[in-house]
Amino acid sequence: KEEKSLNFIEEIIESDLKAGKYTSIITRFPPEPNGYLHIGHASSICLNFGLTNKYPGYTNLRFDDTNPVTEDTEYVESIKNDIRWMGFEWKNELYASDYFDTLYGYAIKLIQSGLAYVDDSTSEEIAALKGTPTEPGKDSPYRSRSVEENLTLFERMKLGEFPDGSRTLRAKIDMAHQNMLMRDPILYRIKHAHHHRTGNKWCIYPMYDFAHGQSDAIETVTHSICTLEFVPHRELYDWLIAQLAIYPSHQYEFARRNLNYTVTSKRKLLQLVQEGHVSGWDDPRMPTISGLRRRGYTPESIRDFCERIGVARRENMIDVGLLEFCVREDLNKKALRRMVVLDPLKVVITNFPEGISEMCHSENNPEDIAAGNREIPFTREIYIEKEDFMETPSKKYFRLAPGKMVRLKGAYIIQCDDFVKDGNGEITEVRCSFIENSKSGQDTTGINVKGTLHWVSVNYSVPVEVRLYDRLFSVEDASNQEGDFKEYLNPDSLHVITGYAEPALTEAVEGESFQFLRKGYFAKDKDSIPEKLVFNRTVTLRDTWAK
Ligand code: ATP
Ligand code: MG
Ligand code: MG
Repeated sequence: KEEKSLNFIEEIIESDLKAGKYTSIITRFPPEPNGYLHIGHASSICLNFGLTNKYPGYTNLRFDDTNPVTEDTEYVESIKNDIRWMGFEWKNELYASDYFDTLYGYAIKLIQSGLAYVDDSTSEEIAALKGTPTEPGKDSPYRSRSVEENLTLFERMKLGEFPDGSRTLRAKIDMAHQNMLMRDPILYRIKHAHHHRTGNKWCIYPMYDFAHGQSDAIETVTHSICTLEFVPHRELYDWLIAQLAIYPSHQYEFARRNLNYTVTSKRKLLQLVQEGHVSGWDDPRMPTISGLRRRGYTPESIRDFCERIGVARRENMIDVGLLEFCVREDLNKKALRRMVVLDPLKVVITNFPEGISEMCHSENNPEDIAAGNREIPFTREIYIEKEDFMETPSKKYFRLAPGKMVRLKGAYIIQCDDFVKDGNGEITEVRCSFIENSKSGQDTTGINVKGTLHWVSVNYSVPVEVRLYDRLFSVEDASNQEGDFKEYLNPDSLHVITGYAEPALTEAVEGESFQFLRKGYFAKDKDSIPEKLVFNRTVTLRDTWAK
């Protein structure tokens, strides 16, 4: 395997290790449990866990659960499940909410040092004094409160004496600071809300900036990796660590990963779920890890995708074609082959006896001899795809047409003798004869045919529900369009049809992936019941991604 060049975060870590700054590293993956993980999170997971697989050290899973209103244990469970499914294991399962007491102590310490104050202003009043990037802000009238008064008020905030939004705790930095986030940022807000872990113990909650870096420091995280929108927060991150004299974690930023024809924002994905545009977080059209899994994506294919897109410093849009390429590559190696006719046309083999079946054999996976063979019953009446017959074929059409021969995969060469049309001119039946001694594997005819078709026996085939998916949105970047992003949903993102499967497919287990010959990769869906199997099309076979 060729040596891969280091990404910029690996370069930083290697030089830190070389300089002896650290002997091992600690990273963390810090999801807020307010939704299911999506493909963007997958990239952050691969990065954080990948680094500590490569270098000495470990990765924590830390739930960034400082906003009680939107968070839920359902999300906590799904996040843990998805990370494990991706193939990673965390060292410690941690919660920012476990640090609420410590964080409260840090706040007291800042107040005592004259570096924080209780502000009675409303959020509108605070915003009005914030200034602009080119104009300094103005001091709040509450900025010069005494340490004692601040301590008392902050304690009364904690005791629940004040309503939501009536007071905040703010850092006392500089209202004229170049970085707007340094203009006395809010550290705590009042929220009388039930928290999924701390219950009703707290009615004040720390803001992101007063929780994240402090949690990193408590866990002695060495490299705290986040996305680019946090670049302006780094100054505050460092300031708080310095003032509190706690462990000096460092923040590094990389570009968010966006995939075209979908949205990667939990807030938007939640809307799709709540408003019923999709069947749930794991709808196979969703870019969530659980949706991709249900669709038939493998952990290997998602990790390969994350590896290929790498770590960038500038935001860009990734073509979903690359993700599809990765899953094709993986499933081509692993998926068993099965024949399923999605749009049936009956073919009668007129010289094959009625009422009997003959077993044919075909390889389960030509890429993997060890996968063995399977039996497929051949009978007088079979189905082929409608598109595999043409009354008047074009020159390059190597499928079935009057007078033409094709091979039926794993079975005989057949020749088309005739066809039947209904009153509307629609072809309803094709009549063929099979060529003796042409059976696959024991063909002595010497006949060379160009086309091989998939087929199933009419009598022995099993109807299955097949769900064909298309892109969830009809534009590449629905988040950056005029109006509501939901106006750009693709109205044709799901087609449900009945396919006719060879009997071996009934042995499929939930989640198992198959290549339906010539049709694509499909995974058995959890909605399957013994009387009706359901398959999701993961991806078509056609490879449009240029390597
Ligand atoms: P969303 O905007 O979807 O809610 P978020 O950033 O608020 O995402 P978090 O749960 O806070 O979601 O994210 C956990 C981690 O995953 C963070 O470190 C975050 O930077 C990272 N992450 C989230 N979305 C992406 C993305 N699109 N690309 C790369 N990393 C991401
Ligand atoms: Mg977040
Ligand atoms: Mg967000």
